[in-house]
Amino acid sequence: MNYHVLTLFPDMIRDGFQTSITGRAVEKGILTLETINIRDFSVNKHNRVDDYPYGGGAGMVMQAEPVCLAYESVAAGLEKKPRVLYMSPQGKVFDQRMAEELAAEEELVFLCGHYEGIDERVLEEIVTDEVSIGDYVLTGGELPALVIMDAVSRLLGGVLHNEESAQFDSFHDNLLEYPQYSRPEEWRGKKVPPILLSGHHANVEKWRREQSLIRTRQRRPDLLERANLTKEDKKFLANLEEM
Ligand code: SAM
Repeated sequence: MNYHVLTLFPDMIRDGFQTSITGRAVEKGILTLETINIRDFSVNKHNRVDDYPYGGGAGMVMQAEPVCLAYESVAAGLEKKPRVLYMSPQGKVFDQRMAEELAAEEELVFLCGHYEGIDERVLEEIVTDEVSIGDYVLTGGELPALVIMDAVSRLLGGVLHNEESAQFDSFHDNLLEYPQYSRPEEWRGKKVPPILLSGHHANVEKWRREQSLIRTRQRRPDLLERANLTKEDKKFLANLEEM
């Protein structure tokens, strides 16, 4: 997977991405990260990339030309037109399903806005997807790009140490994950559920599945409607309803 991030703050992207698990994936060569500073493509002698909005109003707008030139500098090195994700509070809300879909791409270009956003004309020209990370407004697209790159990266083979761990995470199959425990067996009077110490693999799996169902029903009942439930799952949930 190759990420290309068009941004006014490349350090923020590099510092955020090149630590911990994603940083290790870059070192291992599973991922590459290229940051492109939009300011390097300014067409203004003062190096500006923003200007006042036509029609008046508060704030500044990122101009079309530097954004387009920055994008073209990336596209020129690629064989086909890549997906270009504009980080925007007006976009489709990012979720695990979108992360899985994006993980199948070889190249992803992220476009990070600032100020009041970006001149609409260049968005129409280069953007394939507008993506939001939630219904709130941030100062820039860098954090959203990092969130998406992180969620996509951990789905790529070799990024996580334990390949299985992404498979049972929350939202996989539209169920929240079961509760997790580690040593010691007793902490401040609270004991680990005995079943987890039993060594009986099948019973542990059954307990975890049931905990996932209980949690999802309590915390995110909306997800259950889209979950892949077995006959046993449905029976278990029906019994809970009766209780
Ligand atoms: N005036 C814009 C509007 O109301 O739609 C908001 C601009 S916001 C202050 C500046 C930039 O932050 C946006 O261009 C976008 O790149 C990014 N941004 C802000 N909130 C976001 C969110 N929830 N998801 C993704 N990107 C976001």
